[in-house]
Amino acid sequence: MAKFKYALFYDFHTLTTIPDVGERFDVEKFTDNVKACGVDFLTWHARCNQGNAYYNTKLGSRHPSLKFDLFGEIAKSCRRKGIRLSAYMNGSLSDEEALHHRDWMMIFSDGRTLREPRLTPYVRTLCYNSPYREHLRDMALELIEKYPVDGLFFDCLQKFPCVCEHCAPEMKKMGFDPSKEEDALEFSHFSVNRLCRFLHDALKAVKPDVLLFFNGPSFEEMGDMHSHLECECLPTAGWGYEYLPVMAHYMRTVAGPDRSVLNMTGRFYDWGDFGGLRKEEGIEYDLFYGLANGMRPDVGGHFHPRGDMDQPVFDRIRSLYSNLHQYDSWCDDAVNRPEIAIVFPKSITAIRTDHALQAATRMLTELKLQFNIVTECSDWSSYRLLILPDNVRLSQETAARLKKHLAKGGAVIASAYSGLDPEDKQFVLKGWPVEYKGPTSHDPLYFQPEGPAAANLPDMPLSIYAGGTEVKAARGAKVEMYCVKPYVNWAWDGLRSNYYTPPQEKTTEPFLAVKGKIAYVSGEIFSSYYKLAPYQMRVLLGNLIGRFLPDPKFKSATLPSFARAFVQENKNRELVHVLAYAPERRGAAVALEDRATLVNTELSLRTDGRKVKKVYLAPAREKLPFAVKDGYCTVTVPLIQGYALAVFEY
Ligand SMILES: [Zn+2]
Repeated sequence: MAKFKYALFYDFHTLTTIPDVGERFDVEKFTDNVKACGVDFLTWHARCNQGNAYYNTKLGSRHPSLKFDLFGEIAKSCRRKGIRLSAYMNGSLSDEEALHHRDWMMIFSDGRTLREPRLTPYVRTLCYNSPYREHLRDMALELIEKYPVDGLFFDCLQKFPCVCEHCAPEMKKMGFDPSKEEDALEFSHFSVNRLCRFLHDALKAVKPDVLLFFNGPSFEEMGDMHSHLECECLPTAGWGYEYLPVMAHYMRTVAGPDRSVLNMTGRFYDWGDFGGLRKEEGIEYDLFYGLANGMRPDVGGHFHPRGDMDQPVFDRIRSLYSNLHQYDSWCDDAVNRPEIAIVFPKSITAIRTDHALQAATRMLTELKLQFNIVTECSDWSSYRLLILPDNVRLSQETAARLKKHLAKGGAVIASAYSGLDPEDKQFVLKGWPVEYKGPTSHDPLYFQPEGPAAANLPDMPLSIYAGGTEVKAARGAKVEMYCVKPYVNWAWDGLRSNYYTPPQEKTTEPFLAVKGKIAYVSGEIFSSYYKLAPYQMRVLLGNLIGRFLPDPKFKSATLPSFARAFVQENKNRELVHVLAYAPERRGAAVALEDRATLVNTELSLRTDGRKVKKVYLAPAREKLPFAVKDGYCTVTVPLIQGYALAVFEY
């Protein structure tokens, strides 16, 4: 279990043909720069994804042009300066080692060993079950026995469909079919987890307090083998702006109170980008989002192999971290205790990529609601409302937890296929507002807003832009809205293309049905929001949440949808983090380079019966006049530029 305050992560993947590795490397100047940023945890390469080592190894191959023990010098210097050091080792990629040991390479099902197209660090991938496994372990042991390092970061531990002579026989023994890629991947899932256990056990036996992180596998499956968690997310490099929010609201439920979750963004636009330096405002948004959700800052970079210092990069990081440091006395050990959870008990791959989950996360943050994303690994007893977006089928365990939640008065909002059994036969819970008939036959699907959940929705049939289910009301349920059918479905009818398909009439098929504390929407409103972001889906969701949770922890009548607000507790204080930034699509990219300005922003915090002593803006402690009414303490912040931290002291 490990906690950190400020981290830095460096790539140092270096082509074997680079002739002058380390020639200009000034180790003391480097670690002085790291220290000047206030960093207490550094990850630096011991062995890169090209298979080159940067220390005096007897087992691997030190980069041929490196003339000194670079990693060793850095390790000694970090130890002297009080910086904890994790040694980076790639877990699956290596050119140099594969060139000497072709029998360690993974074999694709068509017999290839090289990946196509070849312009990728993944061109030579090693097999987790070949003798490479022992080689990797022995290099890791060599490091911790020889150098003052605190831990290891094993990278690129993904699933690869290897069918080599080591894998295929074991796959067959376990009942997998090596000729099927999905079987090979499932076996690789098993193999990579076994490799992590193998490395963990060997390293712990020698150094019981070794810090370990395995990048790739499920955090939940790694369990206590992870001393801390790391979230790798460069929003400009394919992760986009939907990924970090999901992981921020999920990973803290896995990490628990004793392990840091590092929020690893990047100083540049993509990994391997030597000439990139993002604007401070862009990186700052990533870091403040993490800070407001209990993550610790970590900025990734790639050091020039010759050792060129790129001082502007350090200047940027120092400026960013100095800014964050100002908030330490409020934010250190602050925790988020939300009352809403999005239930998503699925694989890490689904959590990382599911569009309905991303949309649900986005909608709740736009509504300024406080929430976690939960699987079956954490306790759900503190939530008042559980939300199941679009496609959450119920396992026995999930069903049992929902029953318990409802029995103690909790509420549930579910949409589309959520609530069904894994075979889509029926809704699992007794007391569910509807019975399942099948997928909706309407395409496009419309609904007619009406009743109390239609507040602020236009009185006209609205498009869903996604699918849904056909259901009928269960006994005792109240149907509040109905589906509207089109004249004809979108289709080629043999003669004409039925492209223009207006709504014809309201059906008797429920769109929104409510029974007790369960609200069920038959349309895929979250997938809809992912696709086109029709704001009415968010309004509808907000109305339903408001029915079950009329007194959210935080509300604001003035914050725009793009702003974010997160509430944390820290002893006798509650913190309201406000973020005002708006990533913008620019050509093929999504860019963020400005702090937005908000004026006269109203913030209302539910006080839960406590007496508010004062409210101020950190770090300047600029006092804010406040009024307490109906259980809420309300302040108006005259000016917010990008980020503001309002502190409510009791
Ligand atoms: Zn293999």
